[in-house]
Amino acid sequence: MSDSSTELKFYNTLTRTKENFAPISPDNVRMYVCGPTVYDYAHIGNARPVIVFDILYRLLRQVYGENHVTYVRNITDVDDKINARAARDYPDLPLNEAIRAVTEKTNAQFQADVKALGCLEPSSQPRATEFIEEMKALIERLVQNGVAYVAEDHVLFSPSAMNKRASGPHYGSLSRRPLDDMLAGARVDIATYKRDEMDFVLWKPSKEGEPGWPSPAGIAAKGRPGWHIECSAMSMAKLLEPFGGGLQCTDPLRNTFDIHAGGIDLVFPHHENEIAQSCCALGTQRMANVWMHNGFLQVEGKKMAKSEGNFVTIHELLETERFGGRKWPGEVLRLAMLMTHYREPIDFSQRRLEEAENILRKLKRVSDTAPEGEAEVPQVVIDALSDDLATPAAIQALSNLASEGNASGLKASLSLLGFDVSAVEVDEALINRAIAERLTFFREKDYAQADRIRDELLAMGVQLKDGKDPQTGERVTSWEIKR
Ligand code: AMP
Ligand code: ZN
Repeated sequence: MSDSSTELKFYNTLTRTKENFAPISPDNVRMYVCGPTVYDYAHIGNARPVIVFDILYRLLRQVYGENHVTYVRNITDVDDKINARAARDYPDLPLNEAIRAVTEKTNAQFQADVKALGCLEPSSQPRATEFIEEMKALIERLVQNGVAYVAEDHVLFSPSAMNKRASGPHYGSLSRRPLDDMLAGARVDIATYKRDEMDFVLWKPSKEGEPGWPSPAGIAAKGRPGWHIECSAMSMAKLLEPFGGGLQCTDPLRNTFDIHAGGIDLVFPHHENEIAQSCCALGTQRMANVWMHNGFLQVEGKKMAKSEGNFVTIHELLETERFGGRKWPGEVLRLAMLMTHYREPIDFSQRRLEEAENILRKLKRVSDTAPEGEAEVPQVVIDALSDDLATPAAIQALSNLASEGNASGLKASLSLLGFDVSAVEVDEALINRAIAERLTFFREKDYAQADRIRDELLAMGVQLKDGKDPQTGERVTSWEIKR
């Protein structure tokens, strides 16, 4: 479905204003979201960018057409935290095998988690270790262009060299921090090989046994990339090169993509550094035209941290009774997240989940009555999302559709927002036979068999309700579809 008449507006961190969105090419809208570092279960804070930018992806597909949006979310599978976890969890394996074991397992868990949260798979999910050559080529170009240098087997990027160039963006233009703040914020370790404290690592040497690749820029020792260069290389490989851009391209217009997103904590230094690398290597003014950042999630009023004891993984929330003494469906977490605007902080709590569950139940009760077939998403819902992803207003619009009894419009809207609206198929004759059989078991006092039948039906999504016939006092059983 394509409706290019819809005006989209997004808050752009780069300009600090809400702007009309104009894609570089409406035939191919390109977005990049910084993905997880795969060393441990993702927590419910990590779920926030995945969910809110899934809404962005779905909105863009709705407006520009399903096949006209490219969404890249990377997987960081080379990182010191991964190495440490591998050595701890698999002490008997060679480190590289242990690293593979950690990253494969964590990535599989992440994919399962975000699927349960109703998120579409991105168009591509590049893994950093598969783009080492692209990273090296970028690094070589940065050295050639005089903004990076080699020191003690490291390659470092020099923001001050960047700022001496005749054109191109200045370092700090995204985060707009004063130099002192940037120094404190970067928490850069004072290293002897740095010419300036602000310089950041593009490539570093690997110790014996650590993952390592032949180094760029004439360095003899084996090494590995820094974190920031990964995203510059993967966005180039996946969002520029397939469309005529890249290091060989001299047309700066081909070397910018539309939207780059992630959590607000990534603005500095990660996104500032991505911009520095990409713009200096490709000779562009902008790496991406629009930069979108989600606010942070805290739990019951406190920063979520292992030391606070309030650290909850997506897996724990969905599959264990750790939070509020019960399991929560993925779409309840999804709605709970969308009840707050993506740029606001979220205070996560059990009450919020309960509230989301109630709202979802009410909405589904109405949408379940919609006749078969496709329906249009009502414009009020699209308008809400088009205004910088105003999901609270969109959810309000859904509640209004439910009150008005617009089941078809509601069903289409729920589906656009990523909630499952597939009809639950039931075989009524089979259910009635099972209920009759169960009543026979009750009469024979074979409660184990009666319970078995109840549980089997429940597993099919059919909930039995036992009552008494007011006249005869006999057991009567009704059923309903459990959501
Ligand atoms: P990390 O694995 O820490 O690099 O984080 C992956 C993504 O989750 C990044 O986009 C972070 O900005 C985001 N993120 C991490 N913690 C939170 C949080 N508490 N609330 C919202 N987003 C978060
Ligand atoms: Zn990134």
